[in-house]
Amino acid sequence: MNTTNQQRIEEHRILSEPFYLAQGNEVELALAAAREQLPLLLKGPTGCGKTRFMRYIAWRLGRPLITVSCHDDLSTSDLIGRYLVKGMEAMWLDGPLTLAVRHGAICYLDEIVEARKDTTVVIHPLADDRRELPVEKLGMIYAAPPEFMLAVSYNPGYQSVLKDLKPSTRQRFVSLSFTYPQPALESRIVMTEGQIEETLAARLVRLAGMTRSLKESGLAEGASTRLLIQAAQLLRQGLDIRSACRAGIIDSLTDDPELLEAMEEMVQSIF
Ligand code: ADP
Repeated sequence: MNTTNQQRIEEHRILSEPFYLAQGNEVELALAAAREQLPLLLKGPTGCGKTRFMRYIAWRLGRPLITVSCHDDLSTSDLIGRYLVKGMEAMWLDGPLTLAVRHGAICYLDEIVEARKDTTVVIHPLADDRRELPVEKLGMIYAAPPEFMLAVSYNPGYQSVLKDLKPSTRQRFVSLSFTYPQPALESRIVMTEGQIEETLAARLVRLAGMTRSLKESGLAEGASTRLLIQAAQLLRQGLDIRSACRAGIIDSLTDDPELLEAMEEMVQSIF
């Protein structure tokens, strides 16, 4: 194992327990999937805890976690690796997926549907029972060790079904559905992460619930747990409640004047 790779993988180790409050039995499901060497598919709206959950699972399993935020420019080489020219020498550098396979880590492809189709194809043999990664440029096929785990996420709200994955591959994934946490749970999360009082956190959660009901009125997505924490952070810094809600939540959700006004009224009714 070369030292650079060893150093790179160590950076992905999660050394202390991430704060994670379970919504249901997702932890047990993920740990069972890991024991059976099955890949995970995390579905749910943005900012509802998927990434935090993966950090927690990686910590529970004691495995490094390599996260890739997928985008439409992400190439196969970005995932697998490429030769870099250094002086007169060409040096191979593992991409995040190869690194994870070689070291028995967890590779988490966030927002997988954003990636190009030719890119998602590379995960097919890893997601099915072959569990192997062909690295054409090296003329190698790496067999994934039992510790390797593949996890992908997507947001069913604004992304269509996992159109880029073959049904045969898709149907290998253990699917975990995430929603926004129940109000009492979400209040505890906002209180802990945002370091604000519980009553204030509960009111932010109430506001979030109201914005989430605006989906029928054309709001793409209601306030996420992440946005509530952000507003809590502004409050913690001494901002007044109206400004914290406006800058931390509402303005991040839409530019539509009518929706903005409706949400301003919600803030006034709660605080
Ligand atoms: P996603 O990956 O679904 O977009 P994140 O995992 O980044 O969302 O969640 C956003 C933030 O919300 C996290 O950084 C964390 O502070 C908080 N959070 C959400 N759900 C939970 C949870 N169940 N336990 C602890 N923190 C949570």
